[in-house]
Amino acid sequence: MPHVKRVPQRTCVGCGEVEGKRELVRFVRTPEGAVVCDPTGKRNGRGAYVHAESDCLERALDGRLGHALRCAVTPEDAAGLRQAFVELLAARQSKRPPQIHRAPEPLRLQPRPRRTAGKRAARP
Ligand SMILES: [Zn+2]
Repeated sequence: MPHVKRVPQRTCVGCGEVEGKRELVRFVRTPEGAVVCDPTGKRNGRGAYVHAESDCLERALDGRLGHALRCAVTPEDAAGLRQAFVELLAARQSKRPPQIHRAPEPLRLQPRPRRTAGKRAARP
């Protein structure tokens, strides 16, 4: 058999799409029953994966994550996961340089004509 390097595929519990493991963030249920973010992907416990996008996170937190992990995600858990998620995304983004440089909006050079109070000019 030839050596074929395959990226493990996992399903995002937010949108249900299958994705390479690297594109996803892992959440794991600890033996204590808490749900935590697992940036390394190596923690023991039942895991679930979510795209590194807030839309998918919110969908996952809206019941799907608890279903996937077969436990209740408490509001405290959800708050902690959001926080960890944001930090994780920031850390990931800081590693690679931003690809899109958005030009600032052009300044309006023409001053708007000021009209003193009174009739508004009817547009043609
Ligand atoms: Zn997703």
